[in-house]
Parts: sequence; C-alpha cells; structure tokens
Amino acid sequence: MHCDALTDWATVVSIARRSTVIFNGVDLGPMWDFCVNALGRELGIPTVAGQSYDWLWDTEFYSNKPGARCQACKGSKSFEAWLNSYAVHFGAKEDRDRTAMLRRMFPSPSTTLAADAIAAFLRNDPNFRMDGPTLQAIIASALRDALTPPPPAGAGPGAGAGAAVGARAVSVPHHRRAAGAAAELTLDTAPAFFSSLHRRCLARMLPGAVSRQHDLRFIPRPHHVDTRFVGSWVCVCLAASVHMVSQWVAALFAEDNIRNDLQPPSSFTMILGQGKSGAEQGYHEELQFAKMGVLPVTELLKVPKTHYDDASDEFCGMCQAGAGRSIREVVPLPAVAP
Ligand SMILES: [Zn+2]
Repeated sequence: MHCDALTDWATVVSIARRSTVIFNGVDLGPMWDFCVNALGRELGIPTVAGQSYDWLWDTEFYSNKPGARCQACKGSKSFEAWLNSYAVHFGAKEDRDRTAMLRRMFPSPSTTLAADAIAAFLRNDPNFRMDGPTLQAIIASALRDALTPPPPAGAGPGAGAGAAVGARAVSVPHHRRAAGAAAELTLDTAPAFFSSLHRRCLARMLPGAVSRQHDLRFIPRPHHVDTRFVGSWVCVCLAASVHMVSQWVAALFAEDNIRNDLQPPSSFTMILGQGKSGAEQGYHEELQFAKMGVLPVTELLKVPKTHYDDASDEFCGMCQAGAGRSIREVVPLPAVAP
C-alpha cells in the first residue's frame, strides 16, 4: 500500500494491529521514531528501525516486551529528567538555538501572536514544521496555560504538602478559556507556552495515547539536508535492511531456545568504509583517551548496555506508560490557576 504515514496514521495503526513486527525505514525524524516505538510498546510487538548514510548504516531493535529496554530508555535519574531530555525538540529547552528561534518568532519585543500566527510559525519554521488539526487544539490549550497565572504558593488543589506529581495537572474549565484580554503570546509568555506544548504533544505520543491519534502532523519534523545527494547508495541501504530482518530473526531463534547464544543488540552501527562497528570505533577512541590519561582505564572495562533484552530504565516514561501507568503522572501538565 502507499500512504502518507503522518496524515494516514490511523491506517498505520490498523496495519500494526494485524502485524507481528514493525520495520521502520521512514525518515521523518526522531519524534516519528518515538511514536512508532510507542505504538510497538503499546501493541507488544517488536520494532526494528534502520537508516544508512554515506558508507555507514545503523539499526535498532526493541522487543517491546514488559520489562525490556525500549527506544526511550535513556538512563534518566527521574521522570522530570526523562521529560526534559525531549524538551529540545519542542522549543522548551533554554539554549542558544531557542534564543535564535524566539528572535525569529518575535522580530520585535512588542510583537504579539494569536493562535493562528503561532500555528503559521510552527508550520513554516525549519525547527518544527508542525501542522494539522491536532496541533491547533494543542496550541489553544498551551496558549491558555501560558496566559493563565500559576496558582500562588500554598494554594490550589495540587499545592498541598506531599501532593503527587500528577496532582499538579489541573484542567481549566472550558468557560475560562476566553476570559480576560485577547489571547496573544508575548516574548515573556513564550517559554511557558513551549513548556506546555512539549508536555501536551509528548502526552499524545506515549503508549496508550499514540494509537488513538488520527493524524501525526503535530510532531516536530526539523528540516534536514536533502539526502538524495549526500545519502548512502543502494548496497549500503540494502545491507541495513538485511540486518534489520536478521536482528528480528535472531531474537525469534533466541526466544524459542533454538539458539541461546544469539543476543541481538538494541542498537548497532556498521562503518562499512572502515570495516568495523560503531562499538569498535568507540572503544578505539576511548583507548586513545586512556593512553593520554584523559579517561580512566576502568572506563574500558565497563560492559555497555546495548542488548535488546536488557532491563528497562526505572524512569523511562515510555516503558512506564506501556506498563499502564497514567500518562498524566508520567507527563504532568503545567500548573495553572483554577
Ligand atoms: Zn524505556
């Protein structure tokens, strides 16, 4: 079949429900990959991704079984840290790129933007290229969050001592949405807007929510160079495809106790032009640093966490949502006044 994977996401979901494995070779950026893995996690079927570039290819394999590591297991120390690791994709990370982005969005300090103007910016800006009806709803909610003052300290339903993280997610009644002056974003309120956008988008991309989306155009798809002229060629690309299938078959053999020695990696890079893997290259670089005294020799002895059946991270939002934890607990919405 042939379809637009973003606008026809519901079709992708219906095909995935009838499948035993998902092979993802679609180049729509890291947030697309996140959604595909969340879908695999929700449906309990393996996901295999592959890409090639120049004389290099890499593949990822996740069984999506309960307790096994997933694509979003990042070794985070808390849910907040895990959530923040995705902030950069949604303009919610404070850095030089965001300062430049806000300068594009607000050409003058007195610029104000209504919902339509915000949607046009997110549609056209190379950092985002987000669109669609779901995005419009998210913008309306994030604008409301940004323009509603947070509750005073010590007040409000989520402010009591010992309140759970998820209890900070306070919904605003519909009749308050249009209250006050015209709902326009300013340079001062933009950070709160992007923080809410980040949380509201990610909440729709997690297991339990992602399968209910009909249109994925709300995910950021940053512009990248046209790979037609700088990408890999057909043999490198085919090598990646064959390895994607090989990882899945190796896991089937291992799980059926046909070949207990097979343990496919969750992530594998092959540098064909040098005839070595990314892990070998990394080890070689660490060895050079150890020789220079920059890195302790003990670093060379550590066992990397790279196999598909390694345990999932304690603070991985995707694994936790996949295990049935409330998405509002994993991704709490911003606190706003009731
Ligand atoms: Zn995970």
